[in-house]
Amino acid sequence: MANAAPRCGARSKRTVKPCRAAAMPNGRCKVHGGKSTGTWTPESLERSRRANWKHGHFSREAKAERSRLRAAILALRDLCDAIYRTIYLTRLRAISLHSSRVVPLNSEAAALGAQRP
Ligand SMILES: [Zn+2]
Repeated sequence: MANAAPRCGARSKRTVKPCRAAAMPNGRCKVHGGKSTGTWTPESLERSRRANWKHGHFSREAKAERSRLRAAILALRDLCDAIYRTIYLTRLRAISLHSSRVVPLNSEAAALGAQRP
């Protein structure tokens, strides 16, 4: 009764008796050829790929997204610097053209230059 399920039946070299373990659908137990053949269906392959997935912070998509954002920030920073430089130079020229006073602008420029080299 306890062994009513199909048995493995593989023959032992040592005892010459059949294996008494429960058989799997292929007729053998897990030690005699009934074990998993590994992941090969698309679903199980996908499951295996996601087995250690924690939050996706290091996924290809997330990394690409951060890279794009970083590039955009750098481009904006360069743009801001260019605008700042243009405004600063325009003011310098205007002052030097229309006035002999350079002291206030120089002190201002020194203060700004300390912030943005
Ligand atoms: Zn067996």
